[in-house]
Amino acid sequence: CGIVGYIGNRNSQEVLIEGLKKLEYRGYDSAGVAVFTDKGLEVKKAKGRLAVLESQLGEAPLAGTIGIGHTRWATHGKPSDVNSHPHTDNSMKFSVVHNGIIENYGELKDELSAKGHQFVSETDTEVISHLIASLYDGDIVQAVQKAVSRMKGAFALGVLTEYEPDKLVAVRLASPLIIGVGQGENFIGSDIPAILNYTRDVYILNDGEMAVLTRDGVELLTLEGNFISRELFHVDWDL
Ligand code: GLU
Repeated sequence: CGIVGYIGNRNSQEVLIEGLKKLEYRGYDSAGVAVFTDKGLEVKKAKGRLAVLESQLGEAPLAGTIGIGHTRWATHGKPSDVNSHPHTDNSMKFSVVHNGIIENYGELKDELSAKGHQFVSETDTEVISHLIASLYDGDIVQAVQKAVSRMKGAFALGVLTEYEPDKLVAVRLASPLIIGVGQGENFIGSDIPAILNYTRDVYILNDGEMAVLTRDGVELLTLEGNFISRELFHVDWDL
């Protein structure tokens, strides 16, 4: 239900938790984060209030400066630790947070299962991480574009891969997503309040658009791969 993503030089778990708190008004039943640590892409997620996740992260922090976070409002699969986001593929090299619904996930799941993919959750979202992994050929942007072209439904996504750890990919199709632009750091969020503590300069994504974030820049493109140029929107209101 809520997405936050960060790429920069701060402690990402703090930015993610602070952002997710600002999205609590949307409602949720579980929460989680994925962070690049020196061990790779590590995930921590738990059913229940953000405070549950926060105390787990307090006891065993995920140290890293790039990450994605999520608060879930279950549509496919009951609220549980394993159904919480982020979801990964079997190699654990890809991690996805998702708002919305993938209508044809059953069909995609059957197809991927036949190819040997093993699923651990009951969610539609887990199919996305496996689909991206199966289509990956050295370029995460292309893999996400190909995956999205196979997906029907309403969604916003945040995607990380260990193969390209300096990139955060975001997609918007019929579920809101904004990009926050900072200095040497960039953000994604389901809504502006998630990032307003850090920056007031944002790009509002439209349906059918994606963004590729690095620490030093943001590229906006269509899902077909055409570059988009857009003015930054300056937020002049306060929470
Ligand atoms: N359909 C997904 C799920 O049930 C995402 C729900 C959401 O937007 O939080 O896990």
